[in-house]
Amino acid sequence: MSRSFDVVVIGAGPAGYIAAIRAAQHGKTVACIDRWQNRDGKYAFGGTCLNAGCIPSKALLESSELYHRAGHEFKKHGIKTGGVEMDVAAMQKRRASIVRQLTGGIAGLFKAAGVEGLVGHGKLLKDRKVEFTPVDGEPEIISAENVILASGSEPIELPVAKFDGEKIIDSWDTLELDAVPGTLGVVGAGVIGLELGSVWSRLGSKVTILEALEDFLFMADRDVAKAAAADFKKQGLDIKLGAMVNKATANKKGVTVEYEDKNGAQMLEVDKLVVAVGRRPVTDNLFADDAGIQLDDRGFIDVDDDCRTRVKGVFAIGDCVRGPMLAHKGSEEGVMVADLIAGEIAEMNYDVIPSVVYTNPEIAWTGKTEAEVKESGRPYKTGQFPFMASGRAKAMEQTSGFVKIISSADDDEVLGVHIVGPMAGELISEAVLALEFSASTEDLQRTIHAHPSLAEAVHEAALAVDKKALNFPNR
Ligand code: FAD
Ligand code: NAD
Repeated sequence: MSRSFDVVVIGAGPAGYIAAIRAAQHGKTVACIDRWQNRDGKYAFGGTCLNAGCIPSKALLESSELYHRAGHEFKKHGIKTGGVEMDVAAMQKRRASIVRQLTGGIAGLFKAAGVEGLVGHGKLLKDRKVEFTPVDGEPEIISAENVILASGSEPIELPVAKFDGEKIIDSWDTLELDAVPGTLGVVGAGVIGLELGSVWSRLGSKVTILEALEDFLFMADRDVAKAAAADFKKQGLDIKLGAMVNKATANKKGVTVEYEDKNGAQMLEVDKLVVAVGRRPVTDNLFADDAGIQLDDRGFIDVDDDCRTRVKGVFAIGDCVRGPMLAHKGSEEGVMVADLIAGEIAEMNYDVIPSVVYTNPEIAWTGKTEAEVKESGRPYKTGQFPFMASGRAKAMEQTSGFVKIISSADDDEVLGVHIVGPMAGELISEAVLALEFSASTEDLQRTIHAHPSLAEAVHEAALAVDKKALNFPNR
């Protein structure tokens, strides 16, 4: 007799594994299928995020930042280091160990919650049957009351710069480099290009980033993008905007990149070239032709606001559906879907998803940019507070950047918060909460913030919206 579960999840990335645990918390019988295999040959839960994305990149960002600060900043604090060296192998060992701990942790969480973790390939058939092919066995048909597709995404390959895993590489290869390239080219000044470009630049690589668009960080508030661009330039990141890559050729020495910008045809020689021009949903062999699943015109699984596909009892969440490709977006969709399956009322607030770029300075925002508010026609007011005027930022020697708040001029509602500066990725949570609760600027102004803290910059920016900042002249 075939096994049956209340819920079968295909994919154990941050969307799928969270959905599986939440469904089990509702008392459902749950299986979660995943086939992720790491470069050491071992299978692991956690998907892109834990194995080759969020976590390993943040591990390397931290190591490279500490190395950079030790070489450039410690002296100011009176710390004599007598020469700082980077042991790349040790840095990579630490990265791999963090990944191992966290992915192993999911197996533990599954066990504790009663989720059956199945290692292998999952494919949705019609009538909510799932074909599970274990990595070392024969296919088995599993029945499910509900199926959640959480198959994630993979890097987009440029036809003119095909990955070879050696010289023309994707983000995963870049996270696992065993030596600092003398020169590193990056195609795409998006989140991956900036984060991984920063890692290797801090470790000594000469990094050149080629971005097709003329606007830097087009999705961010313009003031924030401008300030960040100036900082990256100071750090030596060479970001070329309006640069269209026509051809990349790997050769004995490295890669020759031919591109075009407003001045005409250009050439760049680099040791390695990272292509980070976005990711696309993974749907290959995920469902049978007669399973009833539809893709939209960009290849994402077609779902409604509640992540329901057109097939009753089949949902899709995370990077394989519309919306920003962010781990926390996928996880929250997983919680929502599991709650809906359990018969609860649940919904996602897609308007207040935080975005964070983990560079130095960090960049983080939630809600609308000033351009979006202007475009909406709603009257608005803005306030800014620079970290230069923050005692805590000064003590940390991290004074670059500011907090900017955009509020409606009619009812004082906070519409968008944009931060470029130290720990922006942590500070943004207060703003997310404010927007989630439709807070007014006055709510933020009257909220007591600890002194001295970076969060005071959020408080002061809220005060500045009404020209009431106390620790910086109002304009
Ligand atoms: P995934 O994490 O891709 O997981 C999908 C899983 O499904 C995979 O394990 C895959 O093997 C498995 N799978 C697919 N099809 C099948 C099948 N048919 N059968 C069995 N298994 C299958 N986001 C952030 O929010 N913050 C960050 O700091 C961040 N940093 C990133 C850094 C990098 C370098 C990259 C590449 C991405 C980063 N992201 C970050 C994005 C984040 O990793 C993704 O948004 C997130 O992993 C999406 O989660 P998911 O569960 O939808 O898919
Ligand atoms: P992205 O969409 O963030 O950036 C891709 C960039 O490449 C864009 O600026 C685009 O204009 C540019 N581009 C596209 N085609 C090009 C071409 N032919 N030549 C030059 N430039 C070109 O994509 P990404 O950086 O690859 O990241 C993929 C996804 O992973 C993103 O959706 C992101 O949300 C997620 N991610 C998130 C984090 C984080 O939250 N901190 C970190 C890394 C990745």
